[in-house]
Amino acid sequence: MPRVRQGETAVDQFDVSPPGTGQLSPVRFAALCLTHNCNLRCRYCYAGPKSNRAMDPTTLRTSIDFLLVNSGTKCTITFLGGEPLLQFELLMEAVRYAGEVAPGQLAFRMSTNGTLLDSEKLTLLAENNVTFVLSVDGHPSQHDRNRFYESGTGSYVATLSHVREILTWNPYTIAVSVVAPNTGPDLAEGVQHLFGQSFRYVLQTLDFSATWTRRDLTILERQYRAVAAFYAQQLRRNNKIYYSPFDERIRTWAVRPYKNGDLCDMANSQIAIAPSGRIYPCVQFVGSDGQGEIKNAIGDVFSGFVPDARKKCVALNYEEKESCRDCALLGRCMSYCGCVNFRGTGHINQVPPIVCEHERLLMPIVDDLAEQLWNDGVSLFERKFYEKTYPISSFVEDCMV
Ligand code: SF4
Ligand code: SF4
Repeated sequence: MPRVRQGETAVDQFDVSPPGTGQLSPVRFAALCLTHNCNLRCRYCYAGPKSNRAMDPTTLRTSIDFLLVNSGTKCTITFLGGEPLLQFELLMEAVRYAGEVAPGQLAFRMSTNGTLLDSEKLTLLAENNVTFVLSVDGHPSQHDRNRFYESGTGSYVATLSHVREILTWNPYTIAVSVVAPNTGPDLAEGVQHLFGQSFRYVLQTLDFSATWTRRDLTILERQYRAVAAFYAQQLRRNNKIYYSPFDERIRTWAVRPYKNGDLCDMANSQIAIAPSGRIYPCVQFVGSDGQGEIKNAIGDVFSGFVPDARKKCVALNYEEKESCRDCALLGRCMSYCGCVNFRGTGHINQVPPIVCEHERLLMPIVDDLAEQLWNDGVSLFERKFYEKTYPISSFVEDCMV
């Protein structure tokens, strides 16, 4: 049973105000895809065929202007690709232009494979406060199985080549990792490897587009149990770690179920802009921005949103799912993510079977873990999930250390 203590409120993990009423909200998070190109060829890439098409400077500035008008007071832009560092000058131009026309209104992040980082770029990014998430799947051979160059050579060494500098500058840099059937058997080892590199935040997702056999899922379950033992040990030692498959679900065990828009608010407070300037509900819809994708666009930065297309997407994302109506996990599981649904089934409001199976496999492990940490009165667990001021108090503590 979820534990909510008297007088305590949910810790707001997401900086989003879900409308829940069908009202459209201002854009709070925008993915700006600078290029369709990438220097890697990851097996599970959703970014579509690679090409040299990049955003031109006029579209870039129009995108920034569009976001300033449509975002209310604050918006976070995440530079994406392909690989955004292939367009580093364009990226810096966006930061410079935004600083000129609306200082402080936009925050900047980047999602990168890290292979093109060097000390000079890192300094410029740091000076301009561009934080980033680094795509890294675990230990070297695990990572290299799916993340490699066109030649087939793995990218682990290049990806991690500046990890010390990165984490010294920003210890909260997030490692984003994907688990595929061919890396599932290494999951626990890989997670420990990432925390061993001093990452404190690991965001991990399954490759839902892969074929997962019964055997793969049995292995995965065993691996999650091993990670749970590691996670418990770390919290008991007061080591602050964040592991999204557990943290996201413990939150709904401890505090409250998710509401519409908490996990995925595509087309609404979250959007993606393709190099052409076309606006999509989420980055998973952009692909090659060709004939197959254009029908899913919800406007463009030159003429604005197409309100009906946008509203239709939001309504579909918030729609109660027939297949989930009587499920005890409703409000706790990732069936809320319209982007994952779209990718797996072609429909925003239809959950792919693997998403459902994964939730049913993972949730009991997470609940056992939470129950154990709760019963044992582990202080970091209580602070993390019940103390409203934890993000601030934890940050102050870190600064003192
Ligand atoms: S680094 Fe990202 S964009 Fe490049 S191939 Fe891999 S998943 Fe695709
Ligand atoms: S576990 Fe499956 S049925 Fe239950 S809410 Fe999630 S996707 Fe729906």
